Amino acid sequence: MAIIGLGFAKQNLHLFSLKKSQLLLLKLIAIILAALLFCEFLIYYVVIAQCNWPEVKATVHDGEKERLQPVLKAMFLADTHLLGEIRGHWLDKLRREWQMETAFQTALWLLQPEVVFILGDIFDEGKWSSSQAWADDVERFHRIFRHPRHVQLKVVAGNHDIGFHYQMDTYKVKRFEKVFNPERLFTWKGINFVMVNSVALEGDGCRICSKAEAELTGISHKLNCSREQEQPDSLCVQGKQLPASAPILLQHFPLYRRSDAGCSGEDAAPPGERDLPFQERYDVLSREASQKLLWWLQPRLVLSGHTHSACEVLHGANTLEISVPSFSWRNRNNPSFIMGSVTATEYALSKCYLPLEHKVLATYTGAAVFLVTLILVHLELLPSPFHFGWNLLRKSKRK
Ligand SMILES: [Zn+2]
Repeated sequence: MAIIGLGFAKQNLHLFSLKKSQLLLLKLIAIILAALLFCEFLIYYVVIAQCNWPEVKATVHDGEKERLQPVLKAMFLADTHLLGEIRGHWLDKLRREWQMETAFQTALWLLQPEVVFILGDIFDEGKWSSSQAWADDVERFHRIFRHPRHVQLKVVAGNHDIGFHYQMDTYKVKRFEKVFNPERLFTWKGINFVMVNSVALEGDGCRICSKAEAELTGISHKLNCSREQEQPDSLCVQGKQLPASAPILLQHFPLYRRSDAGCSGEDAAPPGERDLPFQERYDVLSREASQKLLWWLQPRLVLSGHTHSACEVLHGANTLEISVPSFSWRNRNNPSFIMGSVTATEYALSKCYLPLEHKVLATYTGAAVFLVTLILVHLELLPSPFHFGWNLLRKSKRK
């Protein structure tokens, strides 16, 4: 009888420890799923939901009356650097692309921009990729940056897409323009955007450079005609004229600046790097090309990429240039994009930060520590917090 009772107790103990193990397993799975759900989905909604379109003055005086101008909601991002087949670890590639896809899709869903501009260096290895690798990269780009038909996506070329001037050739430019419309002028809601292939502004008279300059002088002529709509110049051809609005210039290389010494803010270049002098035609456009762009196009705003860090520079009296930081966590802990509310005469910009990489890593570390603690308590290598607290309480009562 006693032997049967002992066997029964043993069986009960075994069942109890089995239940405890199953419960632990459930707890571990729940914690892992909660950490993944938060760090890979929810955090993007929580962070991007805090961004708002800036307010812009939409009314203009038209003689005696006030007229309401349409407002265009434009999103600007830069330097996505989708990894190719050579550089970077596959896990790095997978993670960065997942982050950018989730951030971009969340931003589209929450903020509903009408147009998105990507300011070059879309790919990391377009400058040397084989045609197969290029096709793979393009396919992934279309998946990551998929968008509804009513949202326009415009792209300018960067040095990683077609190579620096010495690496660039007609084949690379053509294959880039086959995927991304080669249009240089984009007009919507009375606003003119000029998209420049800044890699082709070397100024050495090469074939690609001459073509790029000819396109820009053509656009400059059209813009001049639109400025003189009241009394059109005799050289202004008949036909559809552009709206009379100073353009917004979009390009990969920034206009010439000596260095980032004048830049400030949490996502400007690190203090140690700000004073490093920029090299013309490598870090920034040459002085000559920059002057030409300002003279020819007389932009009211310039947005550029390439430096991966933020900066605001004033060219002349009132042409503001914004350096848009990289959109990839591979290049920054705090990537961001610019939100612009734009009319034909006014604009207002604000920056939308994406989740901070170190916060995501801290959350994962916290979850991992919690997991390990639960396992140690289960193995009785650590006192359970409940028993530990209960013992403390009993000891203090005895005193
Ligand atoms: Zn670049």
